[in-house]
Amino acid sequence: MTELAPLLARIADKRDDLIALTQDLIRIPTLNPPGDNYREICDYLDRRLSAHGFMTEMIRAHGTPGDSEKYPRWNIVARRDGAQSGECVHFNSHTDVVEVGKGWTTDPFGGALIDGKIYGRGACDMKGGLATSIIAAESFIETYPDFHGAIEISGTADEESGGYGGVAYLAEKGYFDPKKVQHVIIPEPLNKDRVCLGHRGGWWAEIETFGEIAHGSMPFLGDCAVRHMGAVLDKFETDLFPAMAQRRTDMPVVPEGARQSTMNINSIHGGQKEQADDFTGLPAHCVPDSCRIVIDRRFLDEEPLDMVRDEVTGILNSLKSSRAKFDYALTELNHVLPSMTDRNAPIAATIAGQIQTVLGKPAQFVASPGTYDQKHIDRIGKLKNCVAYGPGILELAHKPDEYICVDDMMVSVEVMARSLAALLLPND
Ligand SMILES: [Zn+2]
Repeated sequence: MTELAPLLARIADKRDDLIALTQDLIRIPTLNPPGDNYREICDYLDRRLSAHGFMTEMIRAHGTPGDSEKYPRWNIVARRDGAQSGECVHFNSHTDVVEVGKGWTTDPFGGALIDGKIYGRGACDMKGGLATSIIAAESFIETYPDFHGAIEISGTADEESGGYGGVAYLAEKGYFDPKKVQHVIIPEPLNKDRVCLGHRGGWWAEIETFGEIAHGSMPFLGDCAVRHMGAVLDKFETDLFPAMAQRRTDMPVVPEGARQSTMNINSIHGGQKEQADDFTGLPAHCVPDSCRIVIDRRFLDEEPLDMVRDEVTGILNSLKSSRAKFDYALTELNHVLPSMTDRNAPIAATIAGQIQTVLGKPAQFVASPGTYDQKHIDRIGKLKNCVAYGPGILELAHKPDEYICVDDMMVSVEVMARSLAALLLPND
């Protein structure tokens, strides 16, 4: 076993560097949408990582959703090869953050350090995680420059909007080919003592019911699309929601409520368009001939996607036979299959072992209710040895006054650096 005391001493020396790096990243406002400052944050990471001996590559995801001359989808992949051949450990972090929203008492792009917490949009999700992985990698490389294999760090766009201009694009270009990369850690905020093995699936669809326009004083001369949609929602309440509530997954999803199938009705609209807030007129009297909803169905590893689709279309088709003049259209908007890494996979077992060493208690294995970029590494990259592990507190993601605790980051730096030592130092 290699002596790890020099590594731990070096990590302890980098606390101020970790704070400054996290603050710098927060101060580059990479809001998505629209995808602000992706080039700026990649340039910052390029300067930082090049100075620490990484070879860097800037990759623009041309032609992906949202990519334009005004809002180019820039990504960075940095690689540091060791002195001898071996496996590659890749840290992937998204650089985008969601909108600020209301309710902040600190500057969302100020990166203020108050009582051991760094505040700002993206502090927790996930610029704190990105900074943590950089400090872990730099500490490891400086202590053991003769390590075996390679370390990669990527900063990628658009995770918050599906990852198509980020990890999906890189996976399509071969950056997550298992021949090139063997282990992936995504430092999403799942808490310093938990290893996240994967996520549930998602199916998004728009359903439209049709009617016939007529004068509102004589609705019997038309056909009300909103009433038809009411019948759809009623069937969801009586048939679909109770059936979904019965299904429990073996996936260790947190929070507990997400361990079953869920569905959100994302939006509903029927009849006349809503007018602008400053419109002072009255509505015309019409029977609506169209009503649309968007559904957001999250499903379990145990539920095949076809079953998820058929369950909804089955309800719609049953209404077609039982309800006069009922007609509908269903348009699938997107789908993501569940992803689950085995808890005995090398990266999952390695991180769990180091959590036990650093914190003196067993790691908790969890799965995420929502999807994240693991889906692309798994499905497009065909790389199964991937988990999420990062220091942020999950419940703070996307909230006002989002923060990250410096002490939590320091714990995760140690877990990540020890994991690098376990994977990239020879066992002599
Ligand atoms: Zn995130």
